Amino acid sequence: MSNNLLRTDKDPMGSAISDYYHHKKTDRLRVFSSQFDEDEIPVKQLFRAFKQMPVLEKTALQLATGKILDVGAGSGCHAIALQEAQKEVCAIDISPLSVDVMKKQGVRDVRMVNLFDEQFQETFDTILMLMNGSGIIGRIENMPRFFQRMKKLLNPGGFILMDSSDLKYLFEEEDGCFHIDIAGDYYGQIDFQMQYKDIKGEPFDWLYVDFQTLRLYASNNGFKAELIKEGSHFDYLAKLMPFD
Ligand code: SAH
Repeated sequence: MSNNLLRTDKDPMGSAISDYYHHKKTDRLRVFSSQFDEDEIPVKQLFRAFKQMPVLEKTALQLATGKILDVGAGSGCHAIALQEAQKEVCAIDISPLSVDVMKKQGVRDVRMVNLFDEQFQETFDTILMLMNGSGIIGRIENMPRFFQRMKKLLNPGGFILMDSSDLKYLFEEEDGCFHIDIAGDYYGQIDFQMQYKDIKGEPFDWLYVDFQTLRLYASNNGFKAELIKEGSHFDYLAKLMPFD
């Protein structure tokens, strides 16, 4: 969990977003991980409109209220949908290329800022973390630091809306049992690296967290976790709010 911004020559997702916005076509946005086979992110999906969004995201946008922070806003798809619903939103991202596209797309309040940068001191009523938004926490041991940071960014009565997935299905055997090494690292910690054309990003950690584990860490760090909705494939939307 660093405080850094991305360099343009190390920003494959931002490059893909920028290409799609400017030329309406893209190359493959490739995703590598030591834990999985190579995969791809369909770049067009990063520009999804409200009606194309999964139900967990639609629900989050509907519940978002007051002054909203869209964390890791990417192309700005959620920020745009919120603006269209007459809501007040500030979109942040560490990618200069994505920030540029968000501005061009008409997102009114866009900042190139890292969520963990203490210089960023505004406060919000809703903090949105979507598209496996727990990923930005990186690793399970970053949970205390994450919740401390959230306390500083939330107004009284404010809350976080975050989606994530329980990756246990990846460990399911034919007999229906889950074979997880409980003495090893938490099973939702994934290392990723992306590539777009010849632009290769630095490897990064992305945390998928099941709801029970999230709730446990939340309560140990002064937050109450509520399961708002479950998706169709081990995914869910959670609301996190500080104890009074
Ligand atoms: N929310 C968007 C994009 C998700 S991809 C969507 O649903 O389509 C994750 C985004 O988070 C990327 O744009 C990445 O640049 C940004 N990001 C990663 N770490 C961040 C951090 N610490 N602070 C702010 N943004 C971050």
